[in-house]
Amino acid sequence: MSGRHFLQIPGPTNVPDRVLRAMDMPTIDHRGPEFAALALDVLSGIKTIFRTESPVVIYASSGTGAWEAALVNTLSPRDHVLMFETGQFASLWRTMAERLGLNVEFVPGDWRHGVDPDEVERRLARDSKHEFKAVMVVHTETSTGITSRVRDVRAAIDRAGHPALLMVDAISSLGSIDYRHDEWGIDVTVGGSQKGLMLPPGLGFNATSKKALEASQRSRFTKSYWNWHEIISANKSGFWPYTPSTNMLYGLRESIAMLHEEGLPAVFERHARHGEATRRAVHGWNLELQAADPREYSNSVTAIVVPDNANADDLRAAILERYDMSLGTGLGRLAGRAFRIGHLGNFNDLMLAGTLCGVQMGLDIMRIPHGDGVSAALTFLTDPTPARLAPMATA
Ligand code: PLP
Repeated sequence: MSGRHFLQIPGPTNVPDRVLRAMDMPTIDHRGPEFAALALDVLSGIKTIFRTESPVVIYASSGTGAWEAALVNTLSPRDHVLMFETGQFASLWRTMAERLGLNVEFVPGDWRHGVDPDEVERRLARDSKHEFKAVMVVHTETSTGITSRVRDVRAAIDRAGHPALLMVDAISSLGSIDYRHDEWGIDVTVGGSQKGLMLPPGLGFNATSKKALEASQRSRFTKSYWNWHEIISANKSGFWPYTPSTNMLYGLRESIAMLHEEGLPAVFERHARHGEATRRAVHGWNLELQAADPREYSNSVTAIVVPDNANADDLRAAILERYDMSLGTGLGRLAGRAFRIGHLGNFNDLMLAGTLCGVQMGLDIMRIPHGDGVSAALTFLTDPTPARLAPMATA
């Protein structure tokens, strides 16, 4: 097919040419001075994205690897942890925790809401013996397009006066949605390269805290590759204990520079506009958002429910075949029921307009009844008034 493919899945996202060019470098000695200079640059730069002063451990891994690293570095077999069923990724993290031998209290959810901070407070307040060693939360649930209120979760833990660690999966929010590791009192933030950081898949991150590093001294999980301490110690002089993903680090240096050139507040505002425009399109199509609470709408991904007599995967397949656009599939219990639009990373108004047109044309060819969502989105995108970011429900 001529023209370019539209990759509108919620990660991996489109990699900007600037990042691709930065990665297009000859291999260098990963134990030499040129590498150390690159590593030191990247290791301090990535802290400015997580908004932390504590070490950020970078793995050659997917996000799943970084999930595992967060658990095995801070906890011990049979420890109790509190988790919330916000969607597919929270469920997968729970499965991992159980496989590792953790005792998970998994608060059931309907996949339409994020973590309820009051529920966090209630569960922790009941735990007078402080059995829970960690509360684990997915910030943006990529399967549902729901962003939990992590700052409120922190406040709930504090209200309960509970010492549990707070671990957050920010894989689908980092670099797209406001996130502040230190200010929000997060102990471990898990990240991945392939979403808001605009890189190919292949890097996993653990942002740490003083409390998490102290907990890691007591952790009794068996670990080797994931062990923070060997890595943090080697990182001090700009190295890793093993072969790092050198060319990904070139790319990361560039993507951090791009995020700061635009400015993080502007990056978050851009994502907020695109999230809002997408939701207006959904509203205009007379389709339903999977996210039920406007306070929890995600600005990086939108999950859209199709009518009962339609199949979301058939719609996606038709759009791929006719218009060369990839949309996110419905995951887990949303398979066939919902599709997802990724509007994060290296993205602009016209890319969003093209994406929404592709969806609307797909609804046409699949004869799924709908309104004119594209016009609703374009009206919003071209509206210069400052009130344009008012939540849809009250607009
Ligand atoms: N957590 C979230 C929120 C995700 O979106 C993903 C992947 O999309 C993961 C975890 C797993 O990351 P990976 O597929 O890179 O292992």
